Amino acid sequence: MEPDRWQRQYRETVEELDKRERQWRDTEELLRRIASRLCIAARGQHETLDDALTQLLGTLRRPAESGPLESLLSQLTQAVTLLDQRPSAAAPIAAVAHPVAAQPANIEPYSAPLALTQTLQRLLDRLSDLPEAAARARELLAKLPELSGHDTLAIVAVQVADLADAQAQSLRRDKADADRLLQTLNARLEDIADHLRGETEERASAQADGQAFGQQLLSETEALYTHTRDASDLVSLQTQVYRRLTAIDQRVRDHRARDDARVQTHRERTEALRLRIEDLENQTQTLNHSVRKLERKASHDGLTGVPNRAAYDERIAAEISAWKRDQRPRSIAAFDVDHFKLINDQYGHTAGDKVLQVLAKQLGHRLRDHDFLARYGGEEFVLLLDDVTPTRALAVTDKLRQTIEKIGFHFRQLPVSITVSCGVTGFRENDTPESLFERADQALYQAKRGGRNRCCIAA
Ligand code: GH3
Ligand code: MG
Ligand code: MG
Repeated sequence: MEPDRWQRQYRETVEELDKRERQWRDTEELLRRIASRLCIAARGQHETLDDALTQLLGTLRRPAESGPLESLLSQLTQAVTLLDQRPSAAAPIAAVAHPVAAQPANIEPYSAPLALTQTLQRLLDRLSDLPEAAARARELLAKLPELSGHDTLAIVAVQVADLADAQAQSLRRDKADADRLLQTLNARLEDIADHLRGETEERASAQADGQAFGQQLLSETEALYTHTRDASDLVSLQTQVYRRLTAIDQRVRDHRARDDARVQTHRERTEALRLRIEDLENQTQTLNHSVRKLERKASHDGLTGVPNRAAYDERIAAEISAWKRDQRPRSIAAFDVDHFKLINDQYGHTAGDKVLQVLAKQLGHRLRDHDFLARYGGEEFVLLLDDVTPTRALAVTDKLRQTIEKIGFHFRQLPVSITVSCGVTGFRENDTPESLFERADQALYQAKRGGRNRCCIAA
């Protein structure tokens, strides 16, 4: 286990957490915009409410001080409560769960401000990418076209904010878990560093001890030699030799005892180190696993398992840079399921989800390793084809379209035809991710207008 690997994993974890935090800051920003638009849309209904909305608007325009989502959420909830208490409340709260189907003939059907619902939709699309939020986000998405008044719009917006807040909290929990793991890892590394320091000190003291022992033996031997040489009688010689030999014997015994103790300490320390390294290996595996899980969660769509919108954004930016360098032909294709709303309406959302899973699998199966398929949002997929001209991309995507047409879906034992439309374009000079997608989307729109179940190439 080289320190390099730990450092790399540590860095990767921190980068991953930073990335998720950035994504959440974007989400929070989106939420702020929704709240602002909601305030503007709801003004003029009630005097007290107008005051509250003006205050809320002020807070929203000061992002640096406005703090976490929770405070925004509680302000929004208060505003909605006021809205609900106004004397001439048009639609009851229960309308969110059970929308009023028929409007009296003399009342204009309510139409929510477009910019606001579009922003809510974007936020919900983003939340749909997260496995824990996907089901609730879809429920809320389904409510958007059914809004029956400002009250219901505000309530749905608060529910969206609630969902985003829950996700932000889950991110904070993930981050805290990873932090704890990193702290344990750091402590283990410290232990090992301590051990190595101890070993070095031990070795230095063993060396000093060895030198002192050598010196002592040398001086005893010299003393023995001097006495032997200078002895005048046999008795004193015998006594001196005996004393010196006993002293040497004692020194050797002491030295051996110290050595044995050292060997024992070394053995114990080495065993402790072995256990710590084993522990560290296990912790590293856990960390590795959670980094992979975080990475996957952040970059893959929970429903279909293909890369999500965030992963697409990253990839398309990288592809545009690469294209500027190598000028190899590249194309993108935007796929959209035809009349998908009807499938949801007729067979339910679970059936709709299943369709998306099957489509992603079928599209994914037929691609080359270096092609890139992502779920752009809702029932829309985007495909990046490297080293493929737009004309060739049109042929490839048309084949995919035909394959999908022939899948043979069955709902309640009845065959149902599912088709997709597709817009294709190639990379062009000065393209940005937005201009490129916009062109593919225009071509897709053309395919829809031309009758659906077809692929069109951008002009
Ligand atoms: P068009 O042919 O013009 O594309 O019609 P459409 O009905 O497919 O288009 P529209 O945009 O009106 O409807 C898309 C629907 O897809 C609405 C939304 O509720 C649904 N949807 C988006 N994401 C999901 C999802 O993850 N699962 C399910 N079941 N439905 C989804
Ligand atoms: Mg669509
Ligand atoms: Mg569609």
